[in-house]
Amino acid sequence: MITPRLQFHWLKAGHCNHPECVAMRGGRWQSVMFPALCGLLIHPTRGNILFDTGYSNHFLQATQPFPERLYRWTTPMTLAPEEVLTQQLAQLGIQSTDINYVVISHVHGDHIAGLRDFPYAKLIISRVEYDSASSMSRLGGLMHGFLSALLPPDFAERVIFVEDSVSLNLPAELAALGTGFDIFGDRSLIAIPLPGHSKGQIGVSFKRHDDRRIFLVADACWSMGALKNNQLPTWFASRIFSNVRQYQQSFLGLRKVSTIADGAVLLPSHCQQSWEYLNGGQQT
Ligand SMILES: [Zn+2]
Repeated sequence: MITPRLQFHWLKAGHCNHPECVAMRGGRWQSVMFPALCGLLIHPTRGNILFDTGYSNHFLQATQPFPERLYRWTTPMTLAPEEVLTQQLAQLGIQSTDINYVVISHVHGDHIAGLRDFPYAKLIISRVEYDSASSMSRLGGLMHGFLSALLPPDFAERVIFVEDSVSLNLPAELAALGTGFDIFGDRSLIAIPLPGHSKGQIGVSFKRHDDRRIFLVADACWSMGALKNNQLPTWFASRIFSNVRQYQQSFLGLRKVSTIADGAVLLPSHCQQSWEYLNGGQQT
């Protein structure tokens, strides 16, 4: 069986600002931009797939009341009209109803804010993450960056759990991370657990149309610079994490796979450098 190759666009749907030294040990006090990046993957038979949705205007509605407004205050977000994901998809000739799947890396607000815009998409998530989010109280969720108002009301009817897919040994470039889940059963899209930032965070890996292996690593590291220099997030930033030790293990696994010559291209969800590397969201 030939493994299908996917077309890939790396898109920016808004950003927030933080002092660099909060997100990265040894960082500067200077406020830096954290883009909210998401992927459009086009599978030859499964169609249009999103990896996360970045910010959307639903985030403003969800953070209107107290105490949710604290989220907006602590991580002020900016979303230019041309960065609205549905607008960017329309520019590519794709309507929001044409999105067949959204892979949810984890349930933090900056990754799921656009879910309500894709009413026909199946929602692919780890069961661990889903169960964790379902068990959180309103305040407990907020403390961990989760806003239940961002979930579509029919989420439970559209959910697909990655754990129900076939488990497989990861390809050589990613073998340091152990096993993953073959989402469509054709090895085209592999979900890889990257716990610690949240309980059930997943990344995905696939081969692009030019045969290059891509690995979308979500928030398992915040930038390639931090990974390269072994700069873990500060204690302050880690408070949002579900398990700091698991985060460190996932981070170490990424460091191992990032040093393999001609290995996978790692793309963290908030890495400005990686976004620029892929030509500002143009198809590469
Ligand atoms: Zn994030």
